[in-house]
Amino acid sequence: MPGPRWTEEELTALQAQIREHRLLPAICIPGKSTAAINNQRRRQKGLNGAFQGRKLRPWTITEVKALRSFTEEYHFSAALIAQLELIPGRSRDAVSKMMFRQGFGDPGIKLRARQAYRLNSGRRRELEAFLCNEGRFASSEEISERWGIAQQTVNGYRRRLHAQLSWEQARASEHYKAKQQNVARTVGVQSCQWWQAWRARREQKLRHLRVKLQLSACPPPRRSCQTCGEEWFATKDFFYVTRKSAGHEAGKSMSRTCFLCQSERRRGECAELGKSKRAAA
Ligand SMILES: [Zn+2]
Repeated sequence: MPGPRWTEEELTALQAQIREHRLLPAICIPGKSTAAINNQRRRQKGLNGAFQGRKLRPWTITEVKALRSFTEEYHFSAALIAQLELIPGRSRDAVSKMMFRQGFGDPGIKLRARQAYRLNSGRRRELEAFLCNEGRFASSEEISERWGIAQQTVNGYRRRLHAQLSWEQARASEHYKAKQQNVARTVGVQSCQWWQAWRARREQKLRHLRVKLQLSACPPPRRSCQTCGEEWFATKDFFYVTRKSAGHEAGKSMSRTCFLCQSERRRGECAELGKSKRAAA
């Protein structure tokens, strides 16, 4: 049954609080429940432009592709993807929902989640015994895989049995370490890709600048990179300049290798990959 109509004063009070960007729980109108306020706020939406609701940011193709690789290739969970911010700005919920919409995800994990409730009393007692004895220090994830139940279920049992793992214990298992290594590798691959894109952009910028300088009325002296042999200009746009104060002579020294080669050297392995790619190209 609808409650009493909103009075003019109540509406004004609501709008004032919306304009202060108060969140729903902080909005107070005497005699109105949170649900009533929420409904009224929704009706007001778009009327005066004060409350716009949550902004939806559609997923980009790149994000969906990344999600596919994290879930299908690496079997990461939504929680892990969100925790490591592998898809920046997407919460666990957002990731989880998108996984569902796209049908991504480990079939084993999905099956376990569906069957999680099918633990009969005999099996339950076995699990409890296992958790208190040989499975005492096994990772919850490992147990969830072995027993075909959700990880949350395992954690729930552990809590009730007062057999939770400490932070250190949870991180000591081989299973956990292997998982972390897998994560580290993936993150490494990601940052490597990111770096390659960054480098390509930077290289393009430097080439543009070089053309601009070549066409200018009085270009600066040219300078070749000792590593790649490319001819740039002797300016701080292309080569690092360091102040040196060796002995009594104070002056500037310009690096013999260009920016690109220097950052490439710093990147170590990643650079090796990029170089071999460029050589192959
Ligand atoms: Zn170079």
